[in-house]
Amino acid sequence: MRKVTLKLRLTTRTFLTIGSGVPPEPIGPDIILANISHEKVILPSSTLKGVLRKSFIKVSKFLDEPTCESLDVKEMETKHNELRKAGKTCITCEVFGGPGIEGMLMVEPLVLEEGVSRLMDFTHVSIDDRYGRAARGRLFTVEYIIPNSNLTTNIHLKLPDDMEKATHYLRLLLLALANLRYERIGRGGLVDVHLTEAEGIDAFLSDNVVKELYDSLLSKQPGAVEK
Ligand SMILES: [Zn+2]
Repeated sequence: MRKVTLKLRLTTRTFLTIGSGVPPEPIGPDIILANISHEKVILPSSTLKGVLRKSFIKVSKFLDEPTCESLDVKEMETKHNELRKAGKTCITCEVFGGPGIEGMLMVEPLVLEEGVSRLMDFTHVSIDDRYGRAARGRLFTVEYIIPNSNLTTNIHLKLPDDMEKATHYLRLLLLALANLRYERIGRGGLVDVHLTEAEGIDAFLSDNVVKELYDSLLSKQPGAVEK
């Protein structure tokens, strides 16, 4: 098994709403549930994993790779059976996991740099904007991560020893990460994606596709590790 750790920095390009999922949220959060304690803001990895999976499916379809497209277990299994009959396996579930498939990717929770100072509370403003008045009994909090905020996380990959296979998975994953810049987070959030560091990737840099994607994702901002 080959271990690769991708250290990521996501920079918000728009306001990104965060919410607890309760109660009525007319705008709808881009990211559900924020764990805020002592100025520190941690966001669960599920949102990023979900958007990255969507991006991976899009890229895989574009490259004519065998993949399921649904998040519904029944539909996934139907597609997997169909692929199996053709002697193929679903590449998305191989990487991200699926029914009866462990997957090879683990995403750590996201940490908001500078914590609560990057949050903005629009509780009343949002109601007034929408209805032109304060809706009685409909007080709720919609919080935003302001643009140009940095979210950091690590993606841990367990790639197979077979170098050809491992390279193939890595190519698709880096492509999916690059494509994430054009994917919507939740209702409409946009993020810029940068790699700040990649552990265990050196063995793959002789592959031109991996090298090119790696270079394009590498952060040019100060503090980034240049290779
Ligand atoms: Zn699948």
